[in-house]
Amino acid sequence: MKIAIVGASGAVGQEFLRILEQRDLPIGELLLFGSQRSAGRVYKFRGKDITVKLLQHNDDFKGVDFALTSAGAGTSREFAETITRHGAVMIDNSSAFRMEPDVPLVVPEVNGRDALDAPRRIIANPNCSTIQAVVALKPLYDKYGIKRIVYSTYQAVSGAGLGGYEDLKNGINGEAPKKFPYPIFGNCIPHIDVFLENGYTKEEMKMVNETRKILGDDSLRITATTVRVPVYYGHSESINVELGSAYDLDELKSVLAAGKGIIMADDPANLKYPMAIDCEDHDEVYVGRVRRDDSVENGLNLWVVADNIRKGAATNAVQIAEEYIRRNA
Ligand code: NAP
Repeated sequence: MKIAIVGASGAVGQEFLRILEQRDLPIGELLLFGSQRSAGRVYKFRGKDITVKLLQHNDDFKGVDFALTSAGAGTSREFAETITRHGAVMIDNSSAFRMEPDVPLVVPEVNGRDALDAPRRIIANPNCSTIQAVVALKPLYDKYGIKRIVYSTYQAVSGAGLGGYEDLKNGINGEAPKKFPYPIFGNCIPHIDVFLENGYTKEEMKMVNETRKILGDDSLRITATTVRVPVYYGHSESINVELGSAYDLDELKSVLAAGKGIIMADDPANLKYPMAIDCEDHDEVYVGRVRRDDSVENGLNLWVVADNIRKGAATNAVQIAEEYIRRNA
């Protein structure tokens, strides 16, 4: 099998290299692509040196089975035709195609079968903060139904790529930020992606719209506030949910514990709850602080944490490829 990584030098691209080493996709050849900035750079994969090629409109993608793209929405839009025209399936980490009706938006634990319905051979990987939220919500949605969701996120700097990571690292020494509009060290910035006319940020509206698409339910009432915090890796989320029916709290916890891709960390008596520092380099979604919200009927509060570069990006994309292969077998 031939796999291509587009955006290999980036935060997500580098994680792709690690994850492909760790999982057992039968990779015969791996191609790496980037812009002028990283073309010619050499990365190791399974002991072999691979040189990054310049992404161009040519036939480099002939024979490629899967292209894992994480080079920004503009690049994905510009190169989708070049990447897919010889038959490659493009699994795209950017926001370019997520809401297009003929492009499935897939989290394998939630709607894996949608991956097969990809007439343009493009499958979109959802936004990082949405992926971990829907993994936690899916078992609750199936068992109790969901009427309304209130998301409040605490998102790591690596979610903004290597530039975000550098802003926190250098900000500790008093350097001015380059990626964020304000210093992130010692600060929380209630602004991720651009502001829209409705006063929300694009990141917030991604959470609203992508959750509806992945769960296949346009009737869901959802609101979100997304905040950048001085953490390197791991997004944390407070999720307030109004379920569709009454529940028993102990039973609900076992429903969550049995959910695909979920690890429960919920033992307040022993100070056990999900934290970003514990989920780094893990592929699962950690759920804790599960408690009733008595201010509304059938209300519930959850605290949900996952590694944004792994489950929030690279792992999910590789799992989509694995799911696609499994379902096509
Ligand atoms: P990043 O660290 O800034 O890396 C960007 C990558 O894109 C670099 O490898 C860069 O290569 C490449 N690139 C940019 N312009 C290009 C072009 N014209 N042709 C070829 N390659 C080009 O960003 P990142 O965090 O990895 O994010 C990449 C994408 O994944 C974005 O769309 C982002 O929204 C999405 N994503 C990120 C996360 C996350 O948690 N970080 C999560 C989900 C989705 P050069 O170095 O050669 O320019």
